[in-house]
Amino acid sequence: MTADFGLNTRLLHADLERTAYGETSEAVFLTSGFVYDSAEQAAATFTGETQHYQYSRFGNPTTDALQARLATLEGAEACIVTATGMGAVSSALLSHVKTGDRVVASRALFGSCFWIVANLLPRYGVETIFVDGNDFDAWTEALSKPTAAVLIESPSNPMLDVLDIARIADLAHRAGALLMVDNVFASPVGQKPLSLGADVVVYSCTKHIDGQGRVLGGAVLGRKQWIEETLQPFTRNTGNALSPFNAWVLLKGLETLSLRVDAMARNAAAVADFLADAPGVLQVRYPGRSDHPQAALVGAQMHNGGSLVAVEIEGGREGAFRFLNGLKLIAISNNLGDARSLATHPATTTHMRIAPEDRARLGITDGIVRLSIGLEDSADLIADLKQGLVAARQA
Ligand SMILES: *Cc1c(COP(=O)(O)O)cnc(C)c1O
Repeated sequence: MTADFGLNTRLLHADLERTAYGETSEAVFLTSGFVYDSAEQAAATFTGETQHYQYSRFGNPTTDALQARLATLEGAEACIVTATGMGAVSSALLSHVKTGDRVVASRALFGSCFWIVANLLPRYGVETIFVDGNDFDAWTEALSKPTAAVLIESPSNPMLDVLDIARIADLAHRAGALLMVDNVFASPVGQKPLSLGADVVVYSCTKHIDGQGRVLGGAVLGRKQWIEETLQPFTRNTGNALSPFNAWVLLKGLETLSLRVDAMARNAAAVADFLADAPGVLQVRYPGRSDHPQAALVGAQMHNGGSLVAVEIEGGREGAFRFLNGLKLIAISNNLGDARSLATHPATTTHMRIAPEDRARLGITDGIVRLSIGLEDSADLIADLKQGLVAARQA
């Protein structure tokens, strides 16, 4: 399917291959192995002369369909899907770097991404450096030496800092590095890092792409040569394969992705506006608001403000806990990007392992609550938040 079609059309029809039964939606092939017509065909498949499925760790019609559709959606030459989002991040980094290399990353990363850069890579002799995402003197300094990879997340978790992807791409390329962007918070609908100069985009498909609390999944997208020569041998041989069933569920998720993400962003904007003027709220961070610290950059590089809102509740940890426990509709969960609105207290959950001084540096105070806004009626969400705020002040 050509790129001339609009986003919603591509989300339904791109690379749709029907079997002889003519099913409407793509079939699901939960099969592990494949058979050959002859020994010659098997041999030709292994040399690459013939295209034939070999084994689902190497390739499967359903996971291939997801890869093709994600690549079309992202505007990427190629895609490999993985068992989880962390499978995508770890494979992208570990397949690309070797002992003696340098990796530079923004400090505000998803917890497990931070762990890989801070703890795992150094174990294999990779030098790793963290930079505050909007400190360009620090980026320039960190990227003044040859570097293998740069990993950033924008908007970041949980404070929703927005990083200048084009500017960081430029500095990364001058250092010889690939820029890898964890685009989970924006989703493929909200931001196109490759068009801003990034080389690799990674997703947790668990989040908005499924977005209905059903399956885990991950994806890495980038140039065909890098995907085929660097990433694919790594994922195939280390076994980081997505279940075809999960791939099929994610294909269903893609069909409604843009409808869901746009509706979630509209709800999140309404929630953020309500919270900004509500009593008992010290601070609201939402990329779609004009008071966001990087509002101009949001306008230039994001399609909308996304579905996440960070809010600082009066009364520190106790105030935040009373607020969370007072919510009746919005559930307490560290997941995000779901159709159901979710709330979490980063300082005691997702970011509990980060030292208090590092949390302070990231702006994650004890009063911060991260809201992942879903598809409920916005008036119901606002009513729930209102009574949560009343509970927060009943010390
Ligand atoms: C959830 C998440 C991941 C990890 O994805 P999993 O599917 O949970 O492995 C990575 N980065 C970000 C920003 C995430 O939100």
